[in-house]
Amino acid sequence: MSKNKKEQLDELKEKMEADDMLPLKKSDTNLVFGVGDPETKILFIGEGPGYWENLKKEPFVGNAGKFLDQLLKSINIARESVYITNVVHHRPPENRDPLPEEMSAYGKYLDEMIKIIDPEVIVTLGRYSMGKFMPTAKISTTHGKLFRVNWKGRDLFVIPMYHPAASLRNGEVMRQEKEDFLRLPEVLGKIAEEKKKIVLKTEQMELI
Ligand code: URA
Repeated sequence: MSKNKKEQLDELKEKMEADDMLPLKKSDTNLVFGVGDPETKILFIGEGPGYWENLKKEPFVGNAGKFLDQLLKSINIARESVYITNVVHHRPPENRDPLPEEMSAYGKYLDEMIKIIDPEVIVTLGRYSMGKFMPTAKISTTHGKLFRVNWKGRDLFVIPMYHPAASLRNGEVMRQEKEDFLRLPEVLGKIAEEKKKIVLKTEQMELI
């Protein structure tokens, strides 16, 4: 019998735990793999674990996480019903930004995670996560909008959002992020419509 998504993610986590080549793996860093419902339609991808995330081995449990919870609550989405992970899965020293070679080392596992979860939409939190799918995009112009990207041969829907920590530092960014989240249900509806169109197109192609 084929493995379900949770079993596949557990297996991937074990593989990551055993990988001593991961560049941010140190004696004082824990693997912060991801949390949530593997059957979700929405995958959130942040930047990397901080102090509390490293301690609790769970993404977004510090101040930025509390704000993310608030944003989800504002649109009646339970944290447990989505899946949340990061572009790097060990805490960078002093919470510095992840380096390109680090993102690429963790990227192969994140790619596998995306393949397993196969979400309807990926919500990127911050520019590093957005940059994985839309390398030349600017968060100031893309935030809150829906993009359809062809990424490694996969057709993906991506919604870039500001990083919740950026919102905590800047009132105007927070105002925009709150607004962007309030529009998320409408954007999710748009994806459902687009998907119907794609199915129709495929059916038509099959007829020809
Ligand atoms: N910031 C992130 O990008 N990820 C976390 O898990 C926590 C804070």
